Parts: sequence; structure tokens; C-alpha cells
Amino acid sequence: MKRIGAHVSAAGGVENAPLNAKEIGATAFALFTKNQRQWQAKPLTDKSIDSFNKNCEIAGISADHILPHDSYLINLGHPEKEALQKSRNAFIDEMQRCEQLGLHLLNFHPGSFLNKISPDDSLKIIAESINIAISHTDNVIAVIENTAGQGSNLGFRFEQIGRIIEMVDEQSRVGVCIDTCHTFASGYDLRTLKDYKKTMNDFEQIIGFEYLKGMHLNDSKKELGSRVDRHHSLGKGEMGIDPFKFIMNDDRIDEIPLILETPDDAIWADEIAMLYKLID
Ligand SMILES: [Zn+2]
Ligand SMILES: [Zn+2]
Repeated sequence: MKRIGAHVSAAGGVENAPLNAKEIGATAFALFTKNQRQWQAKPLTDKSIDSFNKNCEIAGISADHILPHDSYLINLGHPEKEALQKSRNAFIDEMQRCEQLGLHLLNFHPGSFLNKISPDDSLKIIAESINIAISHTDNVIAVIENTAGQGSNLGFRFEQIGRIIEMVDEQSRVGVCIDTCHTFASGYDLRTLKDYKKTMNDFEQIIGFEYLKGMHLNDSKKELGSRVDRHHSLGKGEMGIDPFKFIMNDDRIDEIPLILETPDDAIWADEIAMLYKLID
């Protein structure tokens, strides 16, 4: 079945996230396990971890349907040694926080080459960063999100993500999250069934559905191929509602977290209910 939720607030502690998800009728959710705009975070307390687990049970949402997102500050493809080290350490900390919470996935944006090295060299650095993080943790899967390709952000072509995966030693520990807004903004159309099939077929050929561990469901304020990352509420942007209908009726996308990152959190409950209604 389809597992749908939103990137909910963890204000006041991670344990609040599952309750916020329950409130909007979600069967999946995303969260930050620490403040996403700061490098340092206090370690999770046992109390917080316990209530997180209890509240997930109350919400009826299992770890497989929870997709934590890492800090925006982390750049695993950073061209400079010191900054790269800082990012790698922060990423390992995030992976470990997920493990402490009993979670299996960590979603992140691959990284940026900052116009200082070649994109391919940066992809190699990203793969090495993933290898290092995997070696410091037991079971969390590093879930690479495709990007809109804004600035020097990598991962806007499926080939770039495929290239990273190729260089990861333990491929069972790496996955992919498709963000629909990013997909569209980076130039992959999803608006007609023909476009959708073509884009998903490219994904299957170049990466493979076995790596798909989650999706972000967002409409786009910017046009196809704009390479600008601006999310919109479903059906209100350039993509329209059809792509979400195709997704809801694609059984390759069952049992993975489908997460809204749409701008108006007041309508998340409606958006979730609407998505369920799109299933034929
Ligand atoms: Zn996203
Ligand atoms: Zn985005």
C-alpha cells in the first residue's frame, strides 16, 4: 500500500514528530533529528528515544516508513579538505542518531562541487563520504535525493546518482529518494502518462527501482528544466495533479515513505487525503 506523510516538525524534541504526523492522518513521515541549520546538537537522551518509539507506535507508523533528512549544512562532495571533514563528521553523527532511534534510512542531498573541482571529482568524494559513513554505522541506508541542479548542486541527472552508487562499496547501504519537484525542475517531465513512463523508465535503466527508498511529493513553482528548486502545493504549480495520480497508481512505489514538503502545512491533511483518493 501507499505510505504517505509530510516532513513534520520535531520542535520540542524528536518524540513530537510522530504525533504531528498522526494529526494529519499520515502513514509515513520525515523529520530532522537535530536542528537542520546548526552543526552541533545535543545527543539524544534515552527518554527522548523511548518516547519517540512509543509515539511511533501510537501513530501506527513503523521505521520503514520514516525518512529522516540530514542538515542543510552538510556537503559530502566539498572540494576543500577541512570543510569536507566537518561535513563527513556531521553526517556520521546523523547516521548514528538515526540508529539510536531505530530508524533505517537517512535522506540527504548528494553535495555541491562549488565550481572549484570537476563535477566528477566531487561525485567521487561523495561516494567516499558515503563509504566512510557506512563503515562507522551498522545498518542505516544512505538515501541520495535527486536535486533540481540549482547552482553547483550535483545529483540532478540520474547518471550522476548512478555513478555515486557504482562507487559505493556496500550497495545494500545506499538508496535513492526521488523528489518530484526536483525531477521536474531538472528537466525530467512527468506531466503526461507518456512523460511519466519515459522518466521512470530512465530511472529504472540508469539507477533501478530496487534503490528507491522514498519519494518527496512536491509540485514546482518553476517550469520544466528551470533548475530552480521551489516547491508548491500539489496541483497548484507547473506540474499539475496528474503526476501524483500516476505515482499513486504505480505499484513499484508501494511501501516506501512518500513525503510532502509542500509549503502550506495547513493543507497537508487535505493533500494526504486527496492523494489516497487518486488511487484507482
Ligand atoms: Zn525533497
Ligand atoms: Zn527541494
